[in-house]
Amino acid sequence: MYSDVWKQLKEEKKVRLELEKELELQIGMKTEMEIAMKLLEKDTHEKQDTLVAHRQQLEEVKAINLQMFHKAQNAESSLQQKNEAITSFEGKTNQVMSSMKQMEERLQHSERARQGAEERSHKLQQELGGRIGALQLQLSQLHEQCSSLEKELKSEKEQRQALQRELQHEKDTSSLLRMELQQVEGLKKELRELQDEKAELQKICEEQEQALQEMGLRLSQSKLKMEDIKEVNQALKGHAWLKDDEATHCRQCEKEFSISRRKHHCRNCGHIFCNTCSSNELALPSYPKPVRVCDSCHTLLLQRCSSTAS
Ligand SMILES: [Zn+2]
Ligand SMILES: [Zn+2]
Repeated sequence: MYSDVWKQLKEEKKVRLELEKELELQIGMKTEMEIAMKLLEKDTHEKQDTLVAHRQQLEEVKAINLQMFHKAQNAESSLQQKNEAITSFEGKTNQVMSSMKQMEERLQHSERARQGAEERSHKLQQELGGRIGALQLQLSQLHEQCSSLEKELKSEKEQRQALQRELQHEKDTSSLLRMELQQVEGLKKELRELQDEKAELQKICEEQEQALQEMGLRLSQSKLKMEDIKEVNQALKGHAWLKDDEATHCRQCEKEFSISRRKHHCRNCGHIFCNTCSSNELALPSYPKPVRVCDSCHTLLLQRCSSTAS
């Protein structure tokens, strides 16, 4: 029996030792836990400080966020304005592009026109080259013609001198012809005077024709008297009426008849006299008016009248 209790004591001692060991372990654990609690308290303090700091940062971030929101609104409004400006710029760029296209088309037209003008200028240069050659040929021909014309001019000058000499001769002959013309004018004056005399003679002829008609009337009334007068006249005359061609000289003064010395019949004897030898007029029985008689008949008839009157 003792042994058993010993044994139990021993075992109890063993359990007690083990429990003491566990207690010691529990105490160590408790100290460690206290240290950890102290550390945790320190951490909580530190985290509270950081939380305050984070709250302050959050407020700052909110303020920054508000500022950013305002800035975003401003940016949107400016973005709309810029979009409008971009649309207007696009319209302007379209206009500029269309004007650029028109300018390019005009440039192409002008280039085509320039090419055409260059081709024309080439053609004109070729034509002008040909014309210049032809003109040079003509110029050489004209020089030759000029030399030949100068030779002809010399010969013409010589001919002109000869013609001037001939002209001088012609002037001399023309002066002679003028002298002859003056003589012809004098002859024309004489012709006019003769024509005036012819007119006077025609007047006398008409008067004589009228007298003859009156005489024809009187002849029918006084045939008997006429027969007696004819017998007396034939006895007195004993001469015939001479023709103009039968006399070339005046019967009294025997001067030759000419243009200035005309023929006149004596109405009594019928012979032909000049004007100075037949200037008297007497009333004969066979004429109604006094008529021309020669000087010899004038004196004879006056003597007969004076003898019959006495
Ligand atoms: Zn006479
Ligand atoms: Zn007579």
